[in-house]
Amino acid sequence: MTHIRWNLLFLAFCAVLCNRPLLAATPAQDQYYSLSKVATQLGMKAARSVVGDKLQITLSSQWSNVVLRESQRSCTINDITVHLSKAVIKRHGTLYLSESDYNKTIIPLLLPQKLSPPKGCKRIVLDPGHGGKDNGAENKSLKLKEKHLALSLAQSLKGILEQRGYTVYLTRSNDTFIELDDRPKNAGAWNADLFISLHFNASATTSVRGAETYILPPAGHVSTSGSSYNGNASLSGNRWDEWNMLLGYYVQKQLVQSLPASDRGLKRARFAVLRTLNCPGILVEGGFVSNNSEGANIGSAAYRKKMAIAIADAVDSYSRTFERVKNGK
Ligand SMILES: [Zn+2]
Repeated sequence: MTHIRWNLLFLAFCAVLCNRPLLAATPAQDQYYSLSKVATQLGMKAARSVVGDKLQITLSSQWSNVVLRESQRSCTINDITVHLSKAVIKRHGTLYLSESDYNKTIIPLLLPQKLSPPKGCKRIVLDPGHGGKDNGAENKSLKLKEKHLALSLAQSLKGILEQRGYTVYLTRSNDTFIELDDRPKNAGAWNADLFISLHFNASATTSVRGAETYILPPAGHVSTSGSSYNGNASLSGNRWDEWNMLLGYYVQKQLVQSLPASDRGLKRARFAVLRTLNCPGILVEGGFVSNNSEGANIGSAAYRKKMAIAIADAVDSYSRTFERVKNGK
């Protein structure tokens, strides 16, 4: 074999090695990609820094920046917190992102043109949480019940979305109890394109406040709280993982940018209303009624209207991305 052939063989061997993801022994058998490879794939620059004693890498382009830090199971994407399925790991002096987080978080948000579009985004089901015998979260001193607040928010959002040309259904339009399983079932019967469940939070720690938005965890991955089901089974709602991510991100971003609400991030949990959806869907926790100051905000119709406008703006952003992807732009 000639010298040149050996060189070519060596180069081919290196290419295979460099492209081969780092394999990690994890329950979900995830593979990992180095952030330098991710940066190349996305056409972004990677800048290293050290925060405390942790390596941090910022990926940036003229449109986006993504900040990932060693051992952290969240990142920021254009300044919004996005929780990851796996912590970022450090090997050989660089950081690695799990394949699942690359495919289900980074690609949908930074390269949505790679996704295949769902069927539409004009028919929206709003799902005010709780109702009837189920009050949901409460703040007794402020006389707040989540079931009333969620319904009022849903009605306000319905009006705004209808003005913008969407067709909107509510899973309940009065103070009645609806089984959790019936909510996604009804969305399917109405041939929904999007499902948005609306909730408010409560915590025994009354200082806790802020907005968070939930989507389903990818099959085989733990929820953000890390305590729920970790099987490998794919739920029917997992068909929309990438579009769930897009919708959830847009909503979380609009909420924290439009309201005086702190960013608790885009999270993942296998909520019953998300598991069996026939379309992309999210669950919004618009703030903590248990926090007296945030509770007072949420109790005000003007604040809920602002929140409704923020969610409608996010639906518009999603809709624009959907149209761009559908039209191959
Ligand atoms: Zn709730």
